[in-house]
Amino acid sequence: MPSLNPHLLHTEETYLFAKIAEKRKRCLLDVINLGVGDVSKPPIASCIDALRNSVEEMTERSTLPGYPPNQGYRFLREKIALHEYANRFSPEEIFIGAGAKNGAADLLDLFAKGSRIGIPNPSYPVYLGASRIAGMQVLFLPCLEENNFAPTLPNEPCSLIYLCSPNNPTGHSLSKKMLESWVAYAHNHGSLLFYDAAYEGFITSGNPRSIYAIPGAEKVAIEARSFSKKGGFTNLRCSYMVIPKECRLQGVALGQLWERRCQFKFGGVPYPVQRAAESLYSSRGKKELMLQIQEYQAQAVYLRKGLLERGFSIVGGSDAPYVWCKIPPNLSSWEFFDLLLEKTGVLCIPGVGFGSHGEGFVRFSAFPEIPLLEKALTNIEREMFCAI
Ligand code: PLP
Repeated sequence: MPSLNPHLLHTEETYLFAKIAEKRKRCLLDVINLGVGDVSKPPIASCIDALRNSVEEMTERSTLPGYPPNQGYRFLREKIALHEYANRFSPEEIFIGAGAKNGAADLLDLFAKGSRIGIPNPSYPVYLGASRIAGMQVLFLPCLEENNFAPTLPNEPCSLIYLCSPNNPTGHSLSKKMLESWVAYAHNHGSLLFYDAAYEGFITSGNPRSIYAIPGAEKVAIEARSFSKKGGFTNLRCSYMVIPKECRLQGVALGQLWERRCQFKFGGVPYPVQRAAESLYSSRGKKELMLQIQEYQAQAVYLRKGLLERGFSIVGGSDAPYVWCKIPPNLSSWEFFDLLLEKTGVLCIPGVGFGSHGEGFVRFSAFPEIPLLEKALTNIEREMFCAI
């Protein structure tokens, strides 16, 4: 009798997006989707050129790339080491992946079933779902308003802690002081930190972009970054993790362990995609990328200002393209979602979808372009004030 993975069977599906899609279908108004976590702008022109050129190379026997190396092509790892980390880490310490989502979930392969995993609440739902499927013990780290939405340090030791800065959904980023306390925690408890910096490119506050700004972090932290939001790669799929050579658990170098895992369970990222990612580091690519990020940042400023002017209490929007908005206390986040959609056609994400401590909030995304944001704000102003 075959038996299925009981952890997968008992992991709750995230009904969130299915439920939102269902409600959206029933909405009688034109929907303005401020729920999206996807980009609205295509990859920059340098990327498109690199894609075209590399596809051309694939048409010739002499330049056919074949299987990609598991760890990623050296040409990309060298650029990342130089441009992102000023060669503080070598290309051997950089691992190219097919998305930070995969990295966050697959990293659990390094830990024994039943290990205790610290997960911020609210947070990006992948940390929880992947931990449940892997049969881990989950310890929630509440991110409370009174703590400025930073996750609470646990008293118990955890094998792995997920940290996400700037955070999805709150848009909040962790200060140097907060990061220092997490690095100290990891040293004291023999824990590993998985630092998800998928939105580091959007930081304007001066908070660190990298966990490695903290001395000693290289011994206890793996950092993940992504080209999805920063380069428009949500479809192309390319990301990277830094696993410093000093990063060890129980005397084992985690980079080597990860490499072993990837030899059996990862097929690498396509050559054209890695060439496209490399083009972001050319001088033309850097200029184009900077302009694109500035446009997203301007959208976030616009949305933030618009919501503030309409009396909402919000955080985020300055270090990430998300605005975390407090809702009136008489409504749950789903009730607010329903009311907003029904009265204005604006679609947000109920905070509770990211964890129980997200109740009382909703997430608005600044990925949609300004005309759409303007329409959403106008509708909110016209229809919402009398409704709540
Ligand atoms: N990490 C966070 C915090 C995210 O919000 C997302 C996507 O929304 C990801 C990772 C996924 O990144 P990628 O597209 O590289 O898989």
